[in-house]
Amino acid sequence: MSLDDSWYTEQWAEQGSAISLKLAKKLHHEQSAYQRIEIFETETFGTLMTLDGLVMVTDRDNFVYHEMMSHPALFTHPDPRRVLVIGGGDCGTLREVLKHAGVQLAEQVELDERVTRVAEQFFPELCASNRDPRARLHFADGIQWIADSAPDSYDVIIVDSTDPVGPAAGLFSEEFYQHCHRALGPDGVLVGQSESPLFHADLIVAVQTRLRAAGFADSATLFFPQCTYPSGWWSGTLGCKRGTGCGFRVGDAARKSFTTRYYNAEIHAAALAAPEFLRERLVAR
Ligand code: SAM
Repeated sequence: MSLDDSWYTEQWAEQGSAISLKLAKKLHHEQSAYQRIEIFETETFGTLMTLDGLVMVTDRDNFVYHEMMSHPALFTHPDPRRVLVIGGGDCGTLREVLKHAGVQLAEQVELDERVTRVAEQFFPELCASNRDPRARLHFADGIQWIADSAPDSYDVIIVDSTDPVGPAAGLFSEEFYQHCHRALGPDGVLVGQSESPLFHADLIVAVQTRLRAAGFADSATLFFPQCTYPSGWWSGTLGCKRGTGCGFRVGDAARKSFTTRYYNAEIHAAALAAPEFLRERLVAR
C-alpha cells in the first residue's frame, strides 16, 4: 500500500512499522538552528507538530503524555514548590505543573526557542500558562543548566525531551542524573520520558540502572498509552532520592483541586504496574 502526500507518515524502519495521519494542509515549515519544525492540520487529530520528521504533539492525544509527565512526579514529592522542566518546548507539561497550587516556581529550560515560539502560535492552549507569574522560560542546553545548578535548587525535575539522540542523548546519561541528584532537595523526584516499553525496553532498564547508580534510592517506570508515538505505548521513569519506593500521595491525588483528562489516582497506581517481560528485568537490575 502506498500513501500519497495527503498523509503524514513516520516510519520506524528497524521496527518495520509506522504511523500515518491524514492531513488537511501544511501550516508551517522552518529549519531552526537545531531542527526542522513542521506544523500540519490533520483531518482527525487537530494540529500536529513534528521535529525532524518525528511526531511531538497532536491536539487530540497530547493530554495523556503531558499529564503523565507531570502529575505522578508532583504527587510523589511530599511538597513540590520548585519545579524544573528540561526540554518541553511545546509548554504542555509546564501548563500541567502550574495546575498545582503549591508550586511557587516552575522553570523551563528548552534548547530551541523556536519550538516554543511556534507552539505559542499554533498550540496557544498548551502555552496558556506561559505568562503565569510563577513560570520562567529559559532557552539553553538543559545538560549545562543542571551541571551549573546549585545543590538543593529544585524539588522536582521533569525531563520532557526528544529521543536519546543528538542534543538529547546526554539527558539519559548517568552523569546527567548525578547532576540532577545534586540539584534536587532531599525529597527530590526526577521523571524523564523513557520511550516505548515495546520498542525500547533496553533503554528503560538502562535509565533505571543509571538513576540508581547516580544515587537515587528508588526508581520506577510509569506506563501509559500514547497512540501517535512509536508502538502507541510510552513510558516515563521516576528517580526518587528518598527510599520510599516512589510511592505517591494517594489521598491528595484523589482529591486534586484541578481538572485532568487522563490522570487520576487510580491511573497513577495502575501506571506503576510493570508488565511481566519488563518486571523480570527491572527486578534483576
Ligand atoms: N513530547 C515529546 C516526545 O516525547 O516526543 C517531547 C516534546 S518537547 C517538544 C522536546 C524538546 O526537547 C524539543 O523541543 C527539543 O528542542 C528539546 N531538547 C532536546 N535536547 C535538549 C537539551 N539538551 N536541553 C534542552 N532541551 C532539549
